[in-house]
Amino acid sequence: MTIFNRRDALVTLTAGGLAAAASTSAFAQEAVPQPRRAGAGGDDPGPRSVARDLQNPDILNQPITDSGTLPNLRFSFADAPTKQYSVGWTRQITVRELGISKMVAGVDMRLNAGGVREMHWHKEGEWAYMLYGNARITAVDADGRNFVGDVGPGDLWYFPSGIPHSIQGLGPDGCEFLLVFDDGGFDEDSTFVVTDWFKHIPKSVLAKNFGVDAKNFDNLPSPGERYIFNLPIPGSVNSDRIAGAKEVPLSLTHRMAAQDPIKTSGGTVRITDSKNFPVSKTIAAALVEIEPGGLRELHWHPNTDEWQYYLEGSGRMGVFAANGHSRTFDYTAGDVGYVPFAMGHYIENTGDKPLKFLEIFKSDYYADVSLEQWLALTPPEMVSGHLNLNNTVMNALRKEKQPVVSGT
Ligand code: MN
Ligand code: MN
Repeated sequence: MTIFNRRDALVTLTAGGLAAAASTSAFAQEAVPQPRRAGAGGDDPGPRSVARDLQNPDILNQPITDSGTLPNLRFSFADAPTKQYSVGWTRQITVRELGISKMVAGVDMRLNAGGVREMHWHKEGEWAYMLYGNARITAVDADGRNFVGDVGPGDLWYFPSGIPHSIQGLGPDGCEFLLVFDDGGFDEDSTFVVTDWFKHIPKSVLAKNFGVDAKNFDNLPSPGERYIFNLPIPGSVNSDRIAGAKEVPLSLTHRMAAQDPIKTSGGTVRITDSKNFPVSKTIAAALVEIEPGGLRELHWHPNTDEWQYYLEGSGRMGVFAANGHSRTFDYTAGDVGYVPFAMGHYIENTGDKPLKFLEIFKSDYYADVSLEQWLALTPPEMVSGHLNLNNTVMNALRKEKQPVVSGT
């Protein structure tokens, strides 16, 4: 197989890494990236990972407009430890992995068909986006009202803080989903799980609480916590409804991908917050799709930080932190990105396929401020006087917000 050595030449190895990637010859067609441009930099003769450098063109060769320092604004789920269970797996990106992310933590979870994320609750509100397959969720609120519902790709759920719930992968192939928690310090390994609590209650207390004899609790699972485990795939959602139960007043699920999008020249945006998904009081979101060459326009958010999850494609984000500080990061599917409160930014599709990602905010509403709209709705003498803009630019300013602009 073919792999790059640490200079520009190709070498052939007989064993070792990069086999799959190299065998396609995609690597062989692309120059080994070097940290240099005309008149600056040099090659990289030292130890290096070409595979990582190829994913980081704007880090190896920063745009010349980048300047100063910014904290790290990217972490990939590929770099997060994946904990495996008999019927699924889970991995998380919290403030411990991505230090800037104090507001939001994310979990990527797979449940095989029948696999159950056991009945539990936690302090944080939980928002979820279904990435793959089908799942059934259940919950009960403080007033004894319940919810049983099914979700598929592009659907959301939301469990308010402290509300107990369960998730189960359905047929034919279970599910994968992204969980978003409204606190960066969240830890998926320290939730309140029902089996763990039962194990730590004297049987005499269980007997008293449920009004049955203590010997009825001789078969509690051991060890105490199941976390993710297998149960038979349930029947239809109607067969799981509880006779006589009252339903929660606000639906805990929402079909985000089925919303009519805002369409602009370079792509689409779907916004979901407490206006159209009323139960979601602590998380607002936008599902953005950018055509090849297109740009999520220059903007910022006036309410809070932005946490991102990249679903498809590849792109780059430039972030402006004021006082001359600006940095650019590259993103691909499975990456988490972050924009600290109020910092200006853009996201550009750098690939040849659509770039799809989620913008997430710890807020009950979505809001962004468009640079172009600001300039278009300010007296033109004021604007051109600041930036020396000619009439071509001034006449092109659009008063209507264009969240995603095309590359042409
Ligand atoms: Mn949960
Ligand atoms: Mn944004």
